Amino acid sequence: MQIVSRFAPSPTGRLHLGHAYSALLAHDFARDRNGAFLLRIEDIDPGRVRSLFVDGIIEDLMWLGLDWDGEILFQSERLPFYAEALDGLKTRGLVYPCFCTRSEIAAEVAASASAPHGPDGPLYPGICRRLSRDERARRLAAEPHAWRLDTAKASAEAGPLYWHDEETEVLAEPQAFGDVVLARKDAPTSYHLAVTVDDAGQGVTDIVRGRDLYAATDVHRLLQALLELPTPHYHHHPLLTDAEGLRLAKRTGAPTLASLREAGADPARLIADLRMGQLPGGYSSAGT
Ligand code: GLU
Repeated sequence: MQIVSRFAPSPTGRLHLGHAYSALLAHDFARDRNGAFLLRIEDIDPGRVRSLFVDGIIEDLMWLGLDWDGEILFQSERLPFYAEALDGLKTRGLVYPCFCTRSEIAAEVAASASAPHGPDGPLYPGICRRLSRDERARRLAAEPHAWRLDTAKASAEAGPLYWHDEETEVLAEPQAFGDVVLARKDAPTSYHLAVTVDDAGQGVTDIVRGRDLYAATDVHRLLQALLELPTPHYHHHPLLTDAEGLRLAKRTGAPTLASLREAGADPARLIADLRMGQLPGGYSSAGT
């Protein structure tokens, strides 16, 4: 079977060194095995996506010399596939509409003495899961709503699930995330649903991405089981950190690849250094 890996950035900012590292590892994973390396633009967040960042991603990858195979896949063009997956889950009663605003959720969480927290913060307290059938139907016709996975019910239906990170078998515990959103009020899908549907749709065999998405894989594994999609192999890599040990991110002021380019950096040198795990001055690769 041909190895297929991918780089799947969200065009919500310019790429920085951490993205370059992730793209390089995914690229090399495929190229070292005679496989295909795909580029997918995860542009489903209407409030944050900018087309100039799409151009920036393409420009930066070309500057680094990381070439991809085939056409670039844009998630914004794949909405019918996500709708189809969601419809199947609706029919099976595994998702429910959620009418809550952020502030209603925050108020409910604040009012509870022991609101459970997951990897992404406080869990959704289940307000709309408990609505009566009548109230749900009435509000569905009249109010904006998201769709949430009934994670406990879905997990019970799916039974114990496992995935592999490198050679390690991991027991999926999607309940840790609570009832995740599968379709947002402002977008007909969410990261979790779109990434799961597309990795299968593109025949991705190996997902090389940062450790920050390790826990979310439990949710993806559950969705794979529910949607009867294959489970790829996962390879979560350490995240790059700066001199203070902070993970590289836009908000911590990580230099963008565009700024390195403007400052005259040599892309071949940068790639050679990253490949050897040597990072440009002041950066390191953290173990978590
Ligand atoms: N689009 C996600 C991000 O930019 C990555 C998705 C993935 O690799 O699964 O963080």
